[in-house]
Amino acid sequence: MAGSGAFVELLEEDVYKYYFDGEWRKSASGKSVSIINPTTRKPQYKVQACTQEEVNKIMESSKIAQKAWAKTPLWKRAELLHRAAVLLKEHKNPIAECLVKEIAKPAKDAVTEVVRSGDLVSYCAEEGVRILGEGKFLVSDSFPGNDRNKLCLTSKIPLGIVLAIPPFNYPVNLAVSKIAPALIAGNSVVLKPPTQGAVAALHMVHCFHLAGFPKGLISCVTGKGSEIGDFLTMHPGVNCISFTGGDTGIAISKKAGMVPLQMELGGKDACIILEDADIDLAAANVVKGGFSYSGQRCTAVKVVLVMESVADALVEKVKAKVAKMTVGPPEENCDITPVVTESSANYIEGLVMDAKQKGATFCQEYKREGNLIWPLLLDHVRPDMRLAWEEPFGPVLPVIRITTVEEGVHHCNASNFGLQGCIFTRDINKAMMISDAMETGTVQINSAPARGPDHFPFQGLRDSGIGSQGITNSISMMTKVKSTVINLPTPSYTMG
Ligand code: NAP
Repeated sequence: MAGSGAFVELLEEDVYKYYFDGEWRKSASGKSVSIINPTTRKPQYKVQACTQEEVNKIMESSKIAQKAWAKTPLWKRAELLHRAAVLLKEHKNPIAECLVKEIAKPAKDAVTEVVRSGDLVSYCAEEGVRILGEGKFLVSDSFPGNDRNKLCLTSKIPLGIVLAIPPFNYPVNLAVSKIAPALIAGNSVVLKPPTQGAVAALHMVHCFHLAGFPKGLISCVTGKGSEIGDFLTMHPGVNCISFTGGDTGIAISKKAGMVPLQMELGGKDACIILEDADIDLAAANVVKGGFSYSGQRCTAVKVVLVMESVADALVEKVKAKVAKMTVGPPEENCDITPVVTESSANYIEGLVMDAKQKGATFCQEYKREGNLIWPLLLDHVRPDMRLAWEEPFGPVLPVIRITTVEEGVHHCNASNFGLQGCIFTRDINKAMMISDAMETGTVQINSAPARGPDHFPFQGLRDSGIGSQGITNSISMMTKVKSTVINLPTPSYTMG
């Protein structure tokens, strides 16, 4: 159970501690932040509201730990990561329990998130020893006017302290996708988990603690992002920010100093369905892509752009599948569970009411109880409706009927987001042409958008992000190149 057994030292009275210098501690603030269970809408857990002074101390110890860690052999870093991966999987149930109670993730999916995170950590350790074990050797005579008297050796070195800020929807997976690459590359990590999901993240951090990482190398600061976030992101001790979330990331990018940024932000992933598509396949993916975890995924299908000639058939098939979805508590593994907060539910409702007022066709009756919103497909959505452009992050899916492929591509490219998109067609040539025309970080052909597998490159254009994730890209992003040039007194060429 969460907060007991191997995790008992995380909890004092009813407040979870934060993690600093290899120990679980109470904040000197004497204040805590409540985490509301989205299903019961009652306080479930409490975490420490850390102070700025505590952040300063964390940065100091993190810097010291990082210097020693950078001198730790790669194979040893990998060994500890493999140990953490095993511990994560071993403790999947208590961590998953937190995900169910803090973010209403269906129980089975919560376990999957933890196991997938363990796999990610292991893969990262393996990838790290390979790619960080290699550098470059350059000779000067390949550039005009030079003789071979300079030999350049390049290697990848750590950045220093990586500030990791994940969002509520994958507080474990999107935390380890930052922590593991940072550590294998020789950095230290300061994690600021999302408030909803903080207790799951603290349990995950404890697995790294149990694995035996050196003191101070990993720290976890809790508190509301709105209160402690700016102090963290603008802290002079931070050498890299890896953030996943919404528009907050745009504000952070504007405020952050001269540090590398990895920003994974929102999305309005378009699903373009052509006349020759396998409509059963498209419908199955629209449902899976649009409604999994109640639509609270960055790569959820967030707008369907379907050719008018096949729109009726698609809508009928999607409606039939939506009718079979179960709606209720995450403990019962329902398909649709309560959205994360009451304010999210209010926001979603605002989008639905706007579409209603402007004449969208409701394929189901709109129904809401507390944070629980029943799945809703809205047909005949037009570009003047907010739902055509905004990210509901809930189980509400707009369908826009199009008469030309260009219309669909134009809608996709006119969005301020550019995360992923997908195309359904049986014609691979057409799919390639449309993929090239879509201005998004990734295009899926004949499947819904997805972030995984976790070693694939993952990036967003425009307001969807800066840089590219995926294990290999994250490791590279969390390093800088160092060159050492050997200057020979006379040119020398390798003979034979
Ligand atoms: P969010 O509100 O932007 O919060 C993300 C994180 O930022 C949380 O840990 C939050 O902490 C923290 N935060 C808040 N204010 C901050 C500040 N001033 N400085 C620093 N950190 C601050 O996003 P969310 O609601 O958790 O997640 C949903 C959004 O994430 C959606 O837009 C979704 O599309 C996006 N997302 C993108 C990806 C991707 O890979 N592109 C993946 C998943 C989700 P608190 O919780 O304490 O406020």
